[in-house]
Amino acid sequence: MHHHLALSQTPDQTVTILIVDDSDTSRLLLESILRHAGHADIVLAASAQEAFHILELDNVGAGECPVDAILMDLIMPGMDGIEATRRIKAVGRLRDIPIVMVTVNADHQSLEQAFQAGAIDYITKPVNRIELRVRVHSVLKLKEEIDQRKIRERELMDLAGRLAEVNKRLKEMAIRDELTGLYNRRHFMEHARAEFMRHKRYGSSLSLLMIDADHFKTINDNYGHSVGDLTLAALADIGRRQLREVDIFARIGGEEFAILLPETTVEDALVVAERIRASVESFSLRVDSGRALPADQGGNQGLKFTVSIGVACTNAQLEDVDSLLKMADRALYAAKNAGRNRVEQNEG
Ligand code: GH3
Ligand code: MG
Ligand code: MG
Repeated sequence: MHHHLALSQTPDQTVTILIVDDSDTSRLLLESILRHAGHADIVLAASAQEAFHILELDNVGAGECPVDAILMDLIMPGMDGIEATRRIKAVGRLRDIPIVMVTVNADHQSLEQAFQAGAIDYITKPVNRIELRVRVHSVLKLKEEIDQRKIRERELMDLAGRLAEVNKRLKEMAIRDELTGLYNRRHFMEHARAEFMRHKRYGSSLSLLMIDADHFKTINDNYGHSVGDLTLAALADIGRRQLREVDIFARIGGEEFAILLPETTVEDALVVAERIRASVESFSLRVDSGRALPADQGGNQGLKFTVSIGVACTNAQLEDVDSLLKMADRALYAAKNAGRNRVEQNEG
């Protein structure tokens, strides 16, 4: 693209330039030069107050500002161009609009003040046509680059936000079981090892519950696998309601669950286990699958099921967490053998 041509013939038609000047002739002169240079969209203000009004300076809820550059007379009655610049630059939404000072005498002190206030350039009166066009052209180019950069930044922020969201979901997926929302086996084992180490170091008692649904194969056979799934999700909800924030509840197998109870004695763990067992026993799942329920499986009173629970608690002799898991497993096995729908403990 020919730079000179772009500058003299076809500036961007979509940009808006605000001219702030108390002198009618000065305002009209600036406007006419810019119009000749091809700038169609020019807004005029005869005072700082008028400019503020156009920029909606006091409107906190104002949207994007339509002004792309400002030519600001330095000396004006009332508020001068320096103070006006300072006020505009103090508004976040207007901060990036380039302001070019237009001044009769370019004395050092007022120029210094103008730059401190946030002006980006200056031009002296009487205004030279070419000089004005060059300055305006370059600040508009700068403004466009700033706008582009802001768009890119916003896109990057959006992307970063979405990425963080996805990462969070991935992390959750890695530690949770999808059907029940409980922790998975791997995450449970991490917690179990950490809690066991705490027990070893501080001697606090750590209890473990192993829960297994009774005759679950029969539920699948009679109602179908998807109703079986709903039953497992319901079992997870029932268990959750009996637990504290610190307890670790996981689905460690198909219809097997484990609960870690930190700082909990075997007596207290037995109470928790019994509450869960009883809650499951008194629960019935409404089955809306559209087909008749077998009479021997509850019929219109809904699907009933039970769980067996094995309880184990740490003692001074226990060497590792696997031994604790084995103890709870043996207790569970005992509960199954003793007729199911019951809680058994293993005292090691
Ligand atoms: P027991 O009282 O001895 O525990 O009998 P059970 O039938 O529950 O035990 P078994 O281990 O023989 O069978 C477990 C059943 O659980 C078999 C399997 O199809 C079912 N199961 C395992 N995971 C899922 C699952 O995610 N969804 C459903 N619907 N069923 C499952
Ligand atoms: Mg089972
Ligand atoms: Mg099982």
